[in-house]
Amino acid sequence: MRKTKIVATLSSKIPYNTLKEMAKIFDCARINLSHGTFDDYKNIVVSIRKIEKELNKYIPILFDLSGPKIRVTTINNISSINRGDKIILSKAPSEGTITINFPEIIDCLHEGQRVYIDDGKIRFKVKEVKKDKVILEALTKGIISLKKGVNFPDTSLPLPSLTEKDIKDIKIIKELEGDFVALSFVRHKNDILELREELNKNKLDIPIIAKVERPEAIPILDEIVDVSDGVMVARGDLGVELSLEKVPIIQKRIIELCKEKGKPVIVATQILETMVDKPEPTRAEVSDIANAIFDGCDALMLSGETAYGQYPIEALKVLDSVSKETELHIKEQKIISIENYRFLKGDPTSAIAFSAVNTALNLNAKAIVCLTVSGQTASLISKFRSKKPVYAVSYKTSTLRKVCLFYGVQPLKVKKSDNTDDLMYEMERAVLLQAKLKESDLIIMTIGLPVAKEGNTNIMKIHNLGGYLPYKSRHLPKKKIKV
Ligand code: PGA
Ligand code: MN
Repeated sequence: MRKTKIVATLSSKIPYNTLKEMAKIFDCARINLSHGTFDDYKNIVVSIRKIEKELNKYIPILFDLSGPKIRVTTINNISSINRGDKIILSKAPSEGTITINFPEIIDCLHEGQRVYIDDGKIRFKVKEVKKDKVILEALTKGIISLKKGVNFPDTSLPLPSLTEKDIKDIKIIKELEGDFVALSFVRHKNDILELREELNKNKLDIPIIAKVERPEAIPILDEIVDVSDGVMVARGDLGVELSLEKVPIIQKRIIELCKEKGKPVIVATQILETMVDKPEPTRAEVSDIANAIFDGCDALMLSGETAYGQYPIEALKVLDSVSKETELHIKEQKIISIENYRFLKGDPTSAIAFSAVNTALNLNAKAIVCLTVSGQTASLISKFRSKKPVYAVSYKTSTLRKVCLFYGVQPLKVKKSDNTDDLMYEMERAVLLQAKLKESDLIIMTIGLPVAKEGNTNIMKIHNLGGYLPYKSRHLPKKKIKV
């Protein structure tokens, strides 16, 4: 079973049958709120929820908020650009100008500063500053099209962290019952705290993924990781906003920090870019995937490859097989020393997670099975990168979907029960029916009593599967457990 998780960006244009084939491989669906309408998003969600039932597999949906993403809003009589051409970036549209969705930026530009369009594919510098407009000189050739992203790597931008569009989009996430929300262009921990407040106002309690793609975030990564529930290394904008050669090191730093703080981390963008229009990846892309896994990411994300590429299923298959092959070569620590795991906070849940991984190793157990209400225990156990399969058992659909993003963790549904014997029986039933384990296999179980209380893991049991079956019936009812 693959341990590295795959996030696939979707669009409403993908035919249902293709989507279903794709969903057999990916672990999390991403909807980018920068493109599409409410009906587009709803179509994707309805399809995914149907596929979830048909495949009997939990599929979380991650909604990606645009944040202060700057885009071209109008282009007036400008076609292809050649080196040395001059165009006007102005507040109001007129002949020979382009405009952007945050016109106030124009007041902050200075001569000589860089302006990049379409992920840096077309580059300009500010030639002259005038009232309410600037003249840009092209440094490269290219074609500007509507809605392409614009970056101002040299300019400090007076932008809100949550835009009016984001605030409207949060209502969409609520209505469509999203499982994760990602915020683009995070610059400060307050951006995350503000988003959390806005989610609370909407009674939406879902994990927040901070997208690291602005230079301001780099010196304060520590604070940002602390207040977020997960992080995305958003290499697309990062490579433009900073410079390309800094991306690999920042990727390693972010992953290291997330390891230390016990948070899931997604590596995104140009994972298999070649496969947008070719059936084969490059050697460099395959090596990049393997290296991200060796760095310690939880998940890798495909964007255009799955959203509009010509080979979405092939791209997912490549990511799947490269991940599996790479995981075979991740070294398992033989002796786990507590000092190496700084995310352990000295609370009962951390202590049990640590002991469960160690005991599974000592006794060569077949799996670690943890009961989890919020997903916290599963998240901690995942960070040890144990070779053992980790099953997160829960009765909460939101938790079962959430754990799909954690490296090496598989969700298992149980019926809610409030006495210990019942619970043990239900856990055994869940494992025997849904996981590839059999009676008398040795497993390490972690439980919290009383049941149904969050953050309460306080028991570890070394257990031979099947021991609780006689409690209800000698034979396991073979009835399938449905998502
Ligand atoms: P985007 O984010 O696809 O929303 O731009 C990812 C990135 O910038 O890498
Ligand atoms: Mn981005």
